[in-house]
Amino acid sequence: MSKEQLECSFCGRNKADTNLLIAGLDAHICDRCIQQAHGIVLEDVKTESGDTGVTQAELQLRKPQAIKSFLDEYIIGQEHTKKVMSVAVYNHYKRLLQPHDDDDIEIQKSNVMMVGQTGTGKTLIAKTIAKMLNVPLAIVDATVLTEAGYVGEDVESILTRLLQAADYNLEKAQTGIVFIDEIDKIARKSDNPSITRDVSGEGVQQGLLKLLEGTVVNVPPKGGRKHPDQKFIEVNTENILFIAGGAFDGIEKVIRKRLNMQAVGFSASMSNDEVADQNNLLKYIIPKDVKDFGMIPEIIGRLPVLTHMNPLDAGTLRAILTEPKNAIIKQYRKLFSMDDIEFTITDGALQFIVEKAIEYKLGARGLRSLCEAIFTDAMFELPGSDEREFKVTKTYAESKLNKSGIQKQLKAVV
Ligand code: ADP
Repeated sequence: MSKEQLECSFCGRNKADTNLLIAGLDAHICDRCIQQAHGIVLEDVKTESGDTGVTQAELQLRKPQAIKSFLDEYIIGQEHTKKVMSVAVYNHYKRLLQPHDDDDIEIQKSNVMMVGQTGTGKTLIAKTIAKMLNVPLAIVDATVLTEAGYVGEDVESILTRLLQAADYNLEKAQTGIVFIDEIDKIARKSDNPSITRDVSGEGVQQGLLKLLEGTVVNVPPKGGRKHPDQKFIEVNTENILFIAGGAFDGIEKVIRKRLNMQAVGFSASMSNDEVADQNNLLKYIIPKDVKDFGMIPEIIGRLPVLTHMNPLDAGTLRAILTEPKNAIIKQYRKLFSMDDIEFTITDGALQFIVEKAIEYKLGARGLRSLCEAIFTDAMFELPGSDEREFKVTKTYAESKLNKSGIQKQLKAVV
């Protein structure tokens, strides 16, 4: 057969019409047929193993306390949020499995709103829950969303992401989790003068409403704009768990104002001791504060579980470095051990990294950049050398950090 005549033995497409044509003994197969066949194989494996997303048996294994224990392995502190999330997730999947009996009691969705500074673990919690449940997770940034017709992404694009995360398995996508980051950036401008880049924020909030409450949405599987001729996939959002997160910069002011009013004018619902925790006013947050910040009441109603993240203090940052199951330091230790190098780090060095992370106001996010700056030379030089030990002291960390120039970069960010 000449090159021009080569064709897929399964669908008959000419080589020119395919992206890839693989030759077998007496046959050829094109990229599309491979993909299709792969789908069939997956489907088959799924049916045989009875894996149809979340099963009753799985749910029974995951009581709220078990969910919380799982979260404890990965997330340091944030006890309140971990507890609230465990219950929300449990109820969500309980709702999903509720028998359709006739008692007219319909369990409402328990979508969640997490308020807390950046780098305190909001995304990590969403990721960990998705990992535990083995459901697809889409992480989307609310700032890229705009009202239909504007430059930017339509809200439907959220579901495109979820479909992609689920490898286009509709059933899995429909029981997945969507994490909407920076939800505060679509707050209404008028109530919140500090937000300057309000791209029709309220319109986006309106657009999100129907998704959050549960509806069937026509979703372009490859995203909206570039592929106008694609077929839509109908996605039902009823069983999708939405978790929204945001820093809500400046909401403390709103909370402080409300608390003062209560303490002075109305019946004080808190003792002065409690109110005195000025360092963490977020823990007093109530839905009204979120509304006063500029979220429309309907959105707040559809994200009924409201929780906050605590700021990370030195002790927590220190624990984040070494304690979680896949703690950063554990990861480096593993990397070095793969080259038969024993990696150790002194308390002083750990403390130094924590101090620098605090100094640059980077929260937990800065820990990794700092570690990279300190360990890169060693990761470059030690593999293949005769060294079998790598001990990081404070002096070593300090000298590497000074040399790396990262300080300058970080200072520029602050
Ligand atoms: P956010 O979404 O609140 O901005 P992230 O979840 O993206 O923050 O956190 C950034 C990184 O910091 C995570 O990948 C994780 O390594 C670390 N981190 C933040 N908070 C915690 C925490 N409470 N426990 C463990 N690691 C954390």
